[in-house]
Amino acid sequence: MKVSELGEFGFIERIKKILESKVIGDDTAPIRVGDRTLLLTCDVLLQDKHFKLTYPPTAVGWKVISVNVSDLTASGGTPLYALVSLVLPDMEVEFMEEVYLGMKKACEFYRCEVVGGNVSKGERLCIDVFMLGETGRFVGRRGAKRGDGVFVSGTLGDSRAGLELLLMEKKNYEDFELRLIEKHLRPTARVDFSKHISKYANASMDISDGLSSDAQKLAKASGVKLSLFSERIPLSQELLTFCKKYRKDPLYYALSGGEDYELLFTHTPEKLNPFLSMVQIGVVEEGEGVYLDGSYLEPTGFDHFKVL
Ligand SMILES: [Mg+2]
Repeated sequence: MKVSELGEFGFIERIKKILESKVIGDDTAPIRVGDRTLLLTCDVLLQDKHFKLTYPPTAVGWKVISVNVSDLTASGGTPLYALVSLVLPDMEVEFMEEVYLGMKKACEFYRCEVVGGNVSKGERLCIDVFMLGETGRFVGRRGAKRGDGVFVSGTLGDSRAGLELLLMEKKNYEDFELRLIEKHLRPTARVDFSKHISKYANASMDISDGLSSDAQKLAKASGVKLSLFSERIPLSQELLTFCKKYRKDPLYYALSGGEDYELLFTHTPEKLNPFLSMVQIGVVEEGEGVYLDGSYLEPTGFDHFKVL
């Protein structure tokens, strides 16, 4: 059987069975060391899949650190150290130096450090980052409780719009278009939410594959139903302008567009923090699946083996 017949998530289920693992499936793996809870995570950027060699290399470096920090933040944690494993073609050294400058900048921003790695020769550039973090209280995807509010951070759909704009390879972009492209190239992990998540969230994950797919994963892991309301889903002014200009549906971008690296989490509605960029988009109910305005919501986000 080919992996594409199972899809990315069916494949992971098969691996879990072989490893007889009851813990695999959250954004990070928590481990107890002495009296500390450390978090382990890894994520990879692959040439021509996640980035092109025409992208600014500092952005590629920034992003590969950010996507790992995003998983740690989703678990209520903060980053400590990273290892970088490279599959490296015989390419310009200067390009890779810029990639590492981007990683360094990101590490300075998130207050963590690259402390080692590995290099192996290959056909296409692949940057795999393993990251170690720490939390006072780990939050996974399984704890959503009936009566919880469903919250998201920031705005959704911007990254996908930015990617489409990038692929248009236009000579001139408008300001709002450049801002969307920037969101795709240089996402920022929501480290401002880390304390809020570890203090209040019952379940949490980052939105890397698109809200419709990621909400489905959270609902399944927690054994609950999520009822979402489309008018509550936060959309940026830039995305609205983009959709007006190119005659697109902003809701489609928010539900299906991946790589926003915003957070999806649940806790009691009263814990909404007005000082954080967060909005309640729904409620946790008894049952299963994700519903939008009362209708079942198909997961239409990103699956590595079922692409478009
Ligand atoms: Mg994640």
